[in-house]
Amino acid sequence: MQVKQTTLLVIGGGPGGYVAAIRAGQLGVPTMLVEGDKLGGTCLNIGCIPSKALIHLADEFAQACRFTGDNPLGIRVQEPALDLVKAQKWKDGVVGKLTGGVGALLRKNGVQVVQGWATVLDGKTVEVKTKEGEPLRIQCEHLLLATGSVPVNLPHLPAGGNVVTSTEALALTQKPRHLVVVGAGYIGLELGIAWRKMGVDVAVVEAAATVLPTYDEELTKPVLASLRKLGITLHLNTTAEGLTERGDGLRARSSNADEFVLPADKVLVAVGRKPRTEGFGLESLQLDMAGRAVKIDEQCRTSMRNVWAIGDLAGEPMLAHRAMAQGEMVAEIVAGKKRRFAPMAIPAVCFTDPELVVAGMTPSEAQAKGLDVLVSQFPFAANGRALSMEGAEGFVRVVARKDTHQVVGWQAVGQGVSELSAAFTYAIEMGARLEDVGGIIHAHPTLGEAVQESALRALGHALHI
Ligand code: FAD
Ligand code: NAD
Repeated sequence: MQVKQTTLLVIGGGPGGYVAAIRAGQLGVPTMLVEGDKLGGTCLNIGCIPSKALIHLADEFAQACRFTGDNPLGIRVQEPALDLVKAQKWKDGVVGKLTGGVGALLRKNGVQVVQGWATVLDGKTVEVKTKEGEPLRIQCEHLLLATGSVPVNLPHLPAGGNVVTSTEALALTQKPRHLVVVGAGYIGLELGIAWRKMGVDVAVVEAAATVLPTYDEELTKPVLASLRKLGITLHLNTTAEGLTERGDGLRARSSNADEFVLPADKVLVAVGRKPRTEGFGLESLQLDMAGRAVKIDEQCRTSMRNVWAIGDLAGEPMLAHRAMAQGEMVAEIVAGKKRRFAPMAIPAVCFTDPELVVAGMTPSEAQAKGLDVLVSQFPFAANGRALSMEGAEGFVRVVARKDTHQVVGWQAVGQGVSELSAAFTYAIEMGARLEDVGGIIHAHPTLGEAVQESALRALGHALHI
């Protein structure tokens, strides 16, 4: 068997693993990366990027459909049609450009990429079943585990046939007539809304009493209103029981014990993801675990010396930018730099319609930490840019300490607010006070003005409300 040696061995070429490898390469650390599937991982191939491409496609199609009828903009369109095979090719092209780019960046930085499935033998040795069939043994000084996550399955609704995960729901080349989504979280709502906009009859079954249960009611209210307006049927406090005998419907049970059937030619199960801890010999390391995730400290060290874990494998929040930041940090520590992972805010964006953003603490999180806070909102109904884009729903909310006025959190809901996440995170990480944000000149007319105005409003002197 061929044996190779390296300083850093990364298992997994998702955003955590590939960023770690690129940064290690930049710093001159001899690095190898093993990927069993496609470079780019879940994020680039079956997650963030294809889902956002599908959402864009759906938005464009819905816009075209809207213009077939009377509309205040006076635009007329006749009979829009959607060629899904062509659209999927476009989406795959976007993915291909990005995954190709990752391969090029790894090469440019001297990272040796091995295509194949890795099995951990011990904390310094990994065996790879290469694509070519030749087994390869790699010995390393540092082992970085970045194997990501997999969808949670419902035992009574296993994936297969008409029951699909997000991976298949992103790749459909034929529109289902009735799509039932189980789980009104990130995936369920992002994809449910997209397919509804493409003309599919969509019903959502959610066990909790509300959609996106991790966000507060004020934030999800505009999303709920939009789901209703789009014609998505919501079944809250309801669980999925299984398929009907003929497989053409989903049996669901509401909290008052009533069972009913929803017609379904596709059922998307989106009830969460779990760290990928099985199938690659992880158990041989006997690492300390934190629930289903590998336990890590603030440097992403596991309980075994020089074995590191990042990204979804290391638990919540399972977000690509958190995986990337951890990967970059581990590479720098391996290269001898002093680093620790202590962000004040990891922004989260839900690409529903309207979009949601949270960064830092919500009012209730701040209160739970014993902070006395000022909370202020600025509505998009008073923002010129939002009105000129027909996007008056939603608001920006700021949370700041009462004593120092230091901003500790932001939340927003509205059209296009994902792009405000950078401003939110800068303000928190740079320790901005309400006066700092309020005193900065924001370009007019932009949604960003609502950021400034929410800070001014917290200080008691908003200008446009
Ligand atoms: P992954 O991206 O899962 O990569 C792990 C890689 O490791 C995979 O390529 C896998 O093949 C490989 N691997 C695993 N085991 C082995 C082995 N033994 N040998 C070789 N290779 C192995 N996050 C956001 O921040 N924003 C979004 O908009 C967003 N949208 C999403 C939409 C969907 C539909 C889904 C499913 C997820 C989305 N996410 C989003 C979450 C995001 O994709 C993940 O948080 C992110 O990909 C985690 O990165 P990672 O590097 O930890 O793992
Ligand atoms: P999620 O945790 O966001 O939502 C799962 C939902 O399913 C919850 O609302 C939960 O109450 C519900 N649920 C659980 N069991 C149920 C059952 N038996 N019947 C009915 N409802 C049930 O999970 P997800 O949507 O699968 O997404 C997984 C992860 O992927 C997210 O947590 C996030 O980390 C990541 N993601 C992020 C983005 C983004 O950043 N925009 C987009 C997609 C996915």
